[in-house]
Amino acid sequence: MAGVLLGCVADDVTGASDLANTLAKAGLHTVQTIGIDGLAQAPADAEAIVVALKSRSIKPAEAVRQSVEAWRRLKALGARQCYFKYCSTFDSTERGNIGPVMDALMAETGGAFTVACPTFPENGRTVYQGHLFVWSQPLHESPLKDHPLNPMRDANLVRVLQAQSRTKVGLVDWQTVAQGPDAVRAAFGVLQRAGVGAAVVDALTLGDLAAIGEACADLPLVTGASGLAAGLATNFIRAGLAEGRNATALPAVDGPAVLLAGSCSPATLAQVEAAGRRYPVLRLDVAVLLAGTDVVPDLVAAARGHLGSTPVLVASSAPPDAVRAVQDRFGREDAGRTVEQAFARLAAALAQAGARRFVVAGGETSGAVVEALGVQALRIGAEIAPGVPATVSLGAVPLALALKSGNFGGEDFFHDALEAMPGECMP
Ligand code: ADP
Repeated sequence: MAGVLLGCVADDVTGASDLANTLAKAGLHTVQTIGIDGLAQAPADAEAIVVALKSRSIKPAEAVRQSVEAWRRLKALGARQCYFKYCSTFDSTERGNIGPVMDALMAETGGAFTVACPTFPENGRTVYQGHLFVWSQPLHESPLKDHPLNPMRDANLVRVLQAQSRTKVGLVDWQTVAQGPDAVRAAFGVLQRAGVGAAVVDALTLGDLAAIGEACADLPLVTGASGLAAGLATNFIRAGLAEGRNATALPAVDGPAVLLAGSCSPATLAQVEAAGRRYPVLRLDVAVLLAGTDVVPDLVAAARGHLGSTPVLVASSAPPDAVRAVQDRFGREDAGRTVEQAFARLAAALAQAGARRFVVAGGETSGAVVEALGVQALRIGAEIAPGVPATVSLGAVPLALALKSGNFGGEDFFHDALEAMPGECMP
């Protein structure tokens, strides 16, 4: 086979898993790396590689630097097309980082035109007339208005992206998308002649995404959430460059299981409550931690006590008013980073104590945890919930991992994940 076809740069680790899940389901043999260094572990037969950065909430210049370096390395491995993956809720601030990274990758790939399409129908994210909806609510009325790091206050993505990008931003509306790939391609041409460099593209359904994906076959750079990438995988298969085989088998990993919840999304709050009916739950008290008491050693000791007998959940998840109170007192970024580091130390200590199966809720939280576990690359397995695959780490001591973006998964997600990850939660 042709080696790496699609080279992907994702702005957080769970987003990368989501994309890798889509590509594996669409038939590309897919590997996710944690950071750029993980590329050293990527097997030669990978058809798609997703480099997970942790660049969503860092300074724009640093996000640009890392994203460009990741793409250069992917290109050196043979990648023919670049995919920039961000959240289906367009998580970003006025400074970025979606716009600056898109601009930089466009320059780097030599493209003159790209698209932005965060639609993810299975999780209720759709774009109509440039406005992003989360199920029935426009983005700025959805729970994302209260996100701990990137509160989203405007649903108009043309406006949001234009504020972040040097490129002129336009729109391909749903009425055009509904006419199919040729109409979408024609609209790209019209916009480009009008000086537009990036188009937000409306999409409501998987069928819309497939049409847009087909129209994007010749673009050096495509940007979006995971959904649009399925069409790019199909393009490679249709062109005979990939076999399109099912590539989601994983080796079993047996061992004690740890569940970690650092997301404060409504979905995770419900999942923590549901998990509490099955497993012991230890609370990471964020206010105490931020006031200067290191709560990690006690949590490690308490969790270790359960490792031999049952999966154990450690959660910092709290409702919006509690999160706001903590952030007002300690600062949004400092609070987030300190809590993430607490989860990182906790995970490392529990792996040291023998834990081999980890389920993590929260994008930033997952990024901190996999880094602390020394995980550099992941094989992608079967889907646990839309956007969340079971994975197993490559490397000397394989770990079974499920990394979930906060809002994803059904109420019983933690249990579903343990069931779907091949292997046993034995002591
Ligand atoms: P999501 O995927 O839902 O966005 P993340 O893990 O990416 O979840 O982001 C959640 C952020 O909130 C992290 O920075 C985390 O450390 C922080 N956090 C977790 N619990 C609390 C809490 N109780 N109060 C304030 N911030 C918190």
